[in-house]
Amino acid sequence: MSEDAERKMQFLYALRSKGVTDKRVLSAMEAIDRGPFIRGIFSGRAYEDMPLPIACGQTISQPSVVGLMTQALRVSPRDKVLEVGTGSGYQAAILSKLARRVYTIDRHSRLVREARDLFDDMGLTNITAITADGSFGIPDQAPFDRIIVTAAAEDPPGTLMEQLKVGGIMVVPVGQSDAVQHLIVVRKSAEGIEYEELRQVRFVPLLEGLGKDT
Ligand code: SAH
Repeated sequence: MSEDAERKMQFLYALRSKGVTDKRVLSAMEAIDRGPFIRGIFSGRAYEDMPLPIACGQTISQPSVVGLMTQALRVSPRDKVLEVGTGSGYQAAILSKLARRVYTIDRHSRLVREARDLFDDMGLTNITAITADGSFGIPDQAPFDRIIVTAAAEDPPGTLMEQLKVGGIMVVPVGQSDAVQHLIVVRKSAEGIEYEELRQVRFVPLLEGLGKDT
């Protein structure tokens, strides 16, 4: 087996062994190469199940966490999905394989620009990447079938809850501290809102306003 094929197999094996079992999610993650989303000195570690530093002091999430969050979101091919926290663009690229349309927002314009270039290179034409404070969602495009937040908030942001469709699902890391947060699945139905706690995670914080590019 080629080195490349072996690396890919190990990558998928690691995902499965950490509980990513949904076939559609696994094939989306097989289709999207994580390599191009990591630039510079850490690029050689793209296939490890590790979070890694990206530009603007942010991080690309651990692949198994990306897989578990995507799985919990239960995206269907007709869905319009909002992601808050574009970062490298990796999560949005995976979502683009599963959904009809993906909107992704980051407060750092440099990250948005670099992610857009990657989406173009990869021919992912159903993603719109926007520089803005994602806590306010996208009023023009709301409501969304699915919302995924990839930065940690103290509570699920109220505006995003409003922009979630009835029947919709939101996945968001929630916690008071930087060190420990819980991944929460929010289900909105006609009867009300249900919360399910998935596991402990560690994300960078959801911050207010636009970021300074570094
Ligand atoms: N999903 C990304 C990883 C996200 S890291 C990936 O696949 O690589 C978290 C990102 O959230 C950072 O890029 C940070 O700039 C962004 N962020 C933090 N607060 C935000 C806010 N209020 N609005 C939009 N983006 C925000």
